[in-house]
Amino acid sequence: MKIMAVYIDQELCKSCKICINTCPKNVYAITHKVNKKGYNYVEAVREADCIACHKCEISCPDFVIHIEK
Ligand code: SF4
Ligand code: SF4
Repeated sequence: MKIMAVYIDQELCKSCKICINTCPKNVYAITHKVNKKGYNYVEAVREADCIACHKCEISCPDFVIHIEK
């Protein structure tokens, strides 16, 4: 069973990379996939490493990320 879940509203992501630079567990990476706004959005490529510190959720300027425990 998954303990942590990282939800990303990819259509809202503006590819600013703040979450990538904030996450202490290196969970995020920019993908080559493009959303409707034309930005390469992030994915939680190492979601299993998430410790639910919520730093990404708090620091994303566009409220893209939601962490659920
Ligand atoms: S901080 Fe938010 S807007 Fe910026 S790259 Fe991460 S998810 Fe996208
Ligand atoms: S909650 Fe913390 S460990 Fe998990 S993805 Fe966000 S910044 Fe990284």
